[in-house]
Amino acid sequence: MSKKIFPHIIGNNVIKNLIGNDIVNRNCSHAYILEGAKGSGKKTAAEQIAAALSCYNKNSTSHDLPCGECDNCHRIFGNISSDVVRITSGDKVSIGIDEIRNIKNGLYVTPNDSDFRTYIIENAERMTPQAQNALLLTLEEPPSFAVFLLLTEDSTKLLETVRSRAQCIRMEKFSSTEVADYLSSSYEGKRIQKSFPERFAAAVSLSDGSLGRAAELLSNTEDTSEILKFRAEAMKLIPLMCSSKSAQMLKLGLTASIKNTHDAKIFLQILDCAIRDMVSAKRTSSENLLFYVSYEEAAKAASEASIKKLFHIHAELIRAIMRLESNVSLKIVLTDMILKIADYKRK
Ligand SMILES: [Zn+2]
Repeated sequence: MSKKIFPHIIGNNVIKNLIGNDIVNRNCSHAYILEGAKGSGKKTAAEQIAAALSCYNKNSTSHDLPCGECDNCHRIFGNISSDVVRITSGDKVSIGIDEIRNIKNGLYVTPNDSDFRTYIIENAERMTPQAQNALLLTLEEPPSFAVFLLLTEDSTKLLETVRSRAQCIRMEKFSSTEVADYLSSSYEGKRIQKSFPERFAAAVSLSDGSLGRAAELLSNTEDTSEILKFRAEAMKLIPLMCSSKSAQMLKLGLTASIKNTHDAKIFLQILDCAIRDMVSAKRTSSENLLFYVSYEEAAKAASEASIKKLFHIHAELIRAIMRLESNVSLKIVLTDMILKIADYKRK
């Protein structure tokens, strides 16, 4: 068995390659910033990194990193390790200088069970400037065994001096497939996928690549009626896309209930989930469905287009989403996209 680096972190190859290699090569930085939206997996990643640093089997070629089996891994995943110090703002709006002073007081005491002590600071942007300056002094001359993980939604809210002392890693957005796999890995998620496939698909499409948000949507704490409306419109649009009927597409696509860029992005993501299902159905793979409720339904829709055409539509959808993200006008983006999709037939 070969060693897998961070097998429990989904996606995020930058973390796996960069921090994973740093740990394996004993070449760790003293501070890393993990930046990403709520639900992007920062806390999970931080816990995995802490375990990897302290894992007894980190140098073994036959164990994964972290191994998940040794006493240190058990202590860290059980949240009872004294070699992992977590700092959160709790209910307070800020993390004050006292909390950072507490760290400094115990900083030079050697770790109990392993070669490292990991400090995880959640919502690091909530540190007051005084707290950040105190941390900065620590980061300038830390003991060799201290590693700081600063988790934040926005690293620009940290002092430049703090940022310059740490390696900043942006959490990757998860693909629709990764979100669907994650949701269906729990008993409850599997149940909803079976009994309410439309709600499941809605959670995947609306999550915008955030596992936390997807789980929230699935637990039905938010209204998903909007998404069901978009789904119905996507159902009408897909056959037109497959048969390149641009005039009808233009009529439908631009008068749909898309009011703004945000709506448009969600709508295009839903369309892309459908295209992905159609490709899966054509290849008779057994991946999680993201849009259609059955493989038969996806295969029927896919019978109108070749795989090449589906890839062409997928590429145009992604291009349109990227253009929307760089603030190109909604109408221009959608019109261009429809014309490009229709144009495929004539090539
Ligand atoms: Zn271990």
